[in-house]
Order: sequence, then C-alpha cells, then structure tokens
Amino acid sequence: MSEGEKGHSSQSLDPKDWQNFRKTAHEALDLAIEFLENARSRPVWRPVPEEVRARLRQEVPVEGQGLDATLREFEELIFPYSTGNTHPRFFGWVHGTGTASGVVAEMLAATMNSNCGGRDHGALYVERSVIDWCRQIAGLPEGAGGLLVSGTSMAALIALGTARQHAIAGVRQQGVAADGGRLTAYTSAEVHESTAKALEVLGLGSGMLRRIPVDSAYRMDTGALREAVRADRDAGLQPFAVIATAGTVNTGGIDDLETIADICAQHGAWFHVDGAFGALCLLDPTLKPLVKGIERADSIAFDFHKWMHVQYDAGCVLVRRGHLLREAYTTRPTYLQSAACGLAGGGEWFCEYGIELSRGFRALKVWFSLKEFGTRRLGECIRRNCDQAQYLAGLVRAAGELELLAEPTLNIVCFRYSDPALDAAELDRLNGDIVADLQESGVAAPSSTRIQGKFAIRACITNHRAIDEDFRILVDGVRSAGARLRPRYAGHAAVESHG
Ligand SMILES: *Cc1c(COP(=O)(O)O)cnc(C)c1O
Repeated sequence: MSEGEKGHSSQSLDPKDWQNFRKTAHEALDLAIEFLENARSRPVWRPVPEEVRARLRQEVPVEGQGLDATLREFEELIFPYSTGNTHPRFFGWVHGTGTASGVVAEMLAATMNSNCGGRDHGALYVERSVIDWCRQIAGLPEGAGGLLVSGTSMAALIALGTARQHAIAGVRQQGVAADGGRLTAYTSAEVHESTAKALEVLGLGSGMLRRIPVDSAYRMDTGALREAVRADRDAGLQPFAVIATAGTVNTGGIDDLETIADICAQHGAWFHVDGAFGALCLLDPTLKPLVKGIERADSIAFDFHKWMHVQYDAGCVLVRRGHLLREAYTTRPTYLQSAACGLAGGGEWFCEYGIELSRGFRALKVWFSLKEFGTRRLGECIRRNCDQAQYLAGLVRAAGELELLAEPTLNIVCFRYSDPALDAAELDRLNGDIVADLQESGVAAPSSTRIQGKFAIRACITNHRAIDEDFRILVDGVRSAGARLRPRYAGHAAVESHG
C-alpha cells in the first residue's frame, strides 16, 4: 500500500485531486442555486418518462465512474423530476417548500457527518437547543423533553409508545399482554392515518381507536367524546389516550384543545396533539389563539418540513414529562455506557428517547432556519398562507362554475368544478380529471380529497413562494380544464359510444 503525498492514503475514498473536486462541487452548488432562483420558470411537475425510468434500472455498478460522470447523470435522469414542491404553484397534500439556505445547512451537516444518537459533541447541543426553543414556543414547562425525528408519523409512534408505557407498567418486558388488551384511544373522524398506524405498530390495534364524529367546523364533537369514554369505562376498558388534531389534512380544522385537555385530566388519559402543520400557528400572534390548550398536552407531534419549510425530513416530538420518554425507551448495553468525561460523556443521549440509535444531524437545518429568519418572519409566512386561502376562496366564490365545499379555517381550500347537467358520479370523475390535467400539464399541483362524500379539488397552501397571481392561475386552470373536459360527460356518452 503506497501512501500518497501529504499523508493521504491512496486507498481512501477522498478525491485524488481536491482542486478538481472543488470545481465539481461548486458546479453542483451552482446547479442547486439556479434551480431555486428559477423555481417559477419550470412546470410544477412532470412525469418521469419511460425512457428515463428504464435508464435508472441499471446493473449494480461494480466499477465506479467517478464524480463528474455521476453528477452529469443526476442532472439528466434525476434532477428534472422532483416532487414539485419547490414551485410556487405546488398546493398538493401538505408539502413544505424548502429554503435556499436549507441547501447550505444540509451541506454543512453532511460535512460534519455527526451521529446524534449520543456521546458528547456539538450537534447534540444544537438539537437540545432546538428542542428547548420548541418547548418554549409550545408553552410546555421546564422538564419537558423531546426528540427530532423524520416526521409526525414517527413522532406519533414515539409519543403514543410513551403513553402506552405510562399506562401499562410492565409493557416493555411482557408486551401488551400485561394489560389484557384493554387500552382504548380516541380521536376525530378526520384523523390522519399515521395515528392508527402507530397504534397498530404498538400492538394496541387500530380497532381500539375510537373515531369520534366531527361538528360542522370539522372539529371533534367533544360531547360525543365524553360519551364514548364513559361507555368504554363502563365496559371495563381503559381509555388511555386522546389524540387531538391541530390542523386536519382535509380542511385544516382544529379540535377544541382546551375541552379535550379537561376531559383527559378528568379521566387520567394521555393528551396527545397531532399538530403536524397546525401547531405552527403558535408562531403567529393572530393565529396562536386557535391552538389554545396545546400548552396542556402530554405530548405534541409536529413537522418542521411542512409549514416551517425546513428541508425534508424533519419532525419533532415533545413530551411534557421528559423523563417518561426515557422510561419508555432507554437501554444502555455495555458498549454504550457513558463516561463522566471524554467523548462518551455528555449526559443523556438521544438514543434513550426513541427507537433509533444512529441519527443524523437534522437539528442543524432547523437551527439555521430559526436563526436566519426568526420565529416572527416564519410566522408571517404562515399568516400570509392563511390570507391567501381566503383570497383563493374568494376567487372560487366569484367564479360561477366553481363551488366552495368547505369554508377555509386555516390554509386549505376545498372546491370543485360544478355543472348542473352532470350527476354526482360524473362530477366526481370530471373533477378527478381536472386535477390530473393540471398536474400533468405542469400548471399547478393541487391534490384531492372527499368532503361530505363529494370529490374535492384541494389546495393546501404551505408555500412561501406563492403570490396572489398563482391563485388566479390555479382558478383559471381549473375553469378552462373543466370547460375543455366537460363534454366527455353530460349527455355526450351517447355520442362517444357511437363515434
Ligand atoms: C402530514 C401529517 C402527518 C404525518 O406527518 P409526516 O411528517 O408525513 O410523517 C400527520 N398528521 C397530519 C395532520 C399531517 O398533516
């Protein structure tokens, strides 16, 4: 084995020529900056062509091709086919936009390559700091703990696992058999399916999740919640958790957190808030009252990658009594024993608060964003999206052929193209076609859902790049696609079958 000059190993994976590497790396950064600077100039989304898919189905690369050729291949086969959520007219599902400086933060975190499972190094102090800021923003007391995770789905699993351990003392050793399958949980009919999935993974069963009906504002009917809890109690079951939603995916509805907190206190049930995007109403003083009561939660799950625009993936779980996280998850085998000082020191390790041992430095991009923009500016972007939802709802109301299907309370507008000549099933199909047409033409990317059984075009505005004109383009796009596609239905069936 020959050792190169300056002590470089010729066997290492480092570049042979750093000067050349620097050039390629700068080129890649320029590509990234150009992409974001001109986000508006591209179609929102484009399907991956069959030819490109075929070229991505490759043999295992036994011999490497080097960085330059790999970057060229990325540029050609991968880069043009992003999800589209960097575009100002991406309004599908609940996707954050990302930020330009997030690119820098991700690059620097990759450079440090920290493992945030534990030990004693700078990244952990950044994560602790980010969690403590979130604790303060949410109004939880000192002693609350938390963990950065991939997203709200993982946050819900960690939180409800903590609640399960709190409810069944022997569950870590004996499993759920320790309680004889008596735990029941409660949420609204508008719940995100990640909650049911968490209960399935935890062995509690989604069948034990009671889906309480909602009122006209799509909030959990708290009277019905009280009755369901009482009925289960009377039947010998143990109501152990209520999962409230702050910002439902369908309409942005926010449950009455204060009343739910009261009900939980009365029954000794764990109060979990799924605030994936809605919890961030905390950042704007005018929206904050909507989530009053969140400060009483036993646990909160939310995302940075949605309404705070931090790059994917980044979510957070906060637990009011932080020590309960440890009780649910800590294990310290001999190879992970901590020391009073040195690299193995540093107090409690994040691997004791969750499932994963090795963890990346997610906290850095969150820290960058909070430091660069501050909570006030991030809150203003959230507020602006809510104002834009009202603006879009106004455009829908003003267009004769469009119908608003739910009053927006937050940032989600559900509407449809309407035509008195079409029956209910035809309207559903037509609106499905309109959504697909807008996406495939690259004009805009709304998603869809059902509101009281009706197929809805759904615009969820978690986009700091969108301006008013983008909503006019969306509405014009829906109207023209509707007019163009409508003849496929409405009495034209006969024409088609003959032609
Ligand atoms: C997105 C979302 C989730 C799931 O969060 P992920 O970050 O995708 O895991 C859960 N609940 C609500 C209300 C959501 O909007």
